Amino acid sequence: MSEAIHDFSAKLRQPSLRKPVTDYLRWRRSLARARAAGAPDPAPPEQAPISINLDLTTACNYRCDHCIDWEILNSGHQHDDARLRGSIETLRERGLRSVILIGGGEPTLYPGFASFVGFLKAQGLQTAIVSNGGRGDRLLEAAEHLEEGDWLRLSLDAASNELFSAMHRPASKSLTLDGICKWIPRIKACNPSFEIGYSYVIVWQGASRDDVPILENIHEIAAATERAKRYGFDYISLKPVLERGEDGAEIMDPEATKHSLTSVIARIHEQVEAAQLLADERFSVRVSTNLRVLEEGSWQELRNQPRVCHMQALRQVLTPMGTYNCPAHRGVDKAKLGGADAWSDDAMAGLTAGQLADLIDRFDASVECRHVTCLYNSVNWWLEKQVEQPSDEIDIEAGEERLDFFL
Ligand code: SF4
Repeated sequence: MSEAIHDFSAKLRQPSLRKPVTDYLRWRRSLARARAAGAPDPAPPEQAPISINLDLTTACNYRCDHCIDWEILNSGHQHDDARLRGSIETLRERGLRSVILIGGGEPTLYPGFASFVGFLKAQGLQTAIVSNGGRGDRLLEAAEHLEEGDWLRLSLDAASNELFSAMHRPASKSLTLDGICKWIPRIKACNPSFEIGYSYVIVWQGASRDDVPILENIHEIAAATERAKRYGFDYISLKPVLERGEDGAEIMDPEATKHSLTSVIARIHEQVEAAQLLADERFSVRVSTNLRVLEEGSWQELRNQPRVCHMQALRQVLTPMGTYNCPAHRGVDKAKLGGADAWSDDAMAGLTAGQLADLIDRFDASVECRHVTCLYNSVNWWLEKQVEQPSDEIDIEAGEERLDFFL
């Protein structure tokens, strides 16, 4: 079973998402039929992705040893605020339902961050924020705009101030893990309606970034869970570290461990079990799909992708450097759908629909993503099965309405 947040097939079967999903499937089926008959390709539907990852900035006030976006950080690329807001409006008019502010840099450093969050909410979009927590004041300001169904997750990855500082190397020496956590009760007092998570990327000895070794933190998982609960977080999210493969893709590479993989997994398991004992009605311990398959030893199965990645039509990544088909290929040229202006107005959106059709043809996920333990693996195979159905009728079983549009 997938963790609910990663059960993307269930999300796509929500009655409220029926139209974009069926429109996409109808197009793929008619395309297959047209090509089999030697007829011209039908035009793709004029629809935006349901969900985007939005990198607001490449600036960051940390120097994390394990940062997956190291190459992009502080590269000087910037959004034009008016154009970015125009893009969001164009996307929303074409079916966008959610935005995750994440990646490539620290979102709270975007000028007018809280006002931008207010703008997203005024557009009626579900909004999530993934932050390093270093600007609690800006998170507090943004919190007043959020509502039930939105969420905030802080990337903390440690239980002790010492390990936190060594792993994250914040620009301000006075910033501590205690200092960050103290903002949580204040944010909760301002607005208790949305969930706040403590994100913990599990690092084992042998993991590296560009051959720079990164610090292990397996031993602090249970203590971090206790800390998260004590400070009023709603959950801790445990996930294994990802590295950049040679082709730029984000991959999980447990075989790189310096110790026996079995002993690393056993140590993780012991800590995760201790963490899970702390779960109760108010506080949960969430084990990511990647961590679950690592513990089960079945992560290779998530590397077997269909040729076509269907999710690139339903979820994209908008960054100051351009628009990409997937978070796992952020900043990689062959995964680029267009510039930062790909959705900036109707004319650009029309062009981008054509670019998307080309990219879906060109980007062979069975090759490009063969090293990625892809969280979207099962939903891609589910969509592939739907595309292969011979009938004209799109007959997908409706699922429960969760009002969760994050993909
Ligand atoms: S198959 Fe997975 S990793 Fe590859 S582009 Fe699609 S969603 Fe991303």
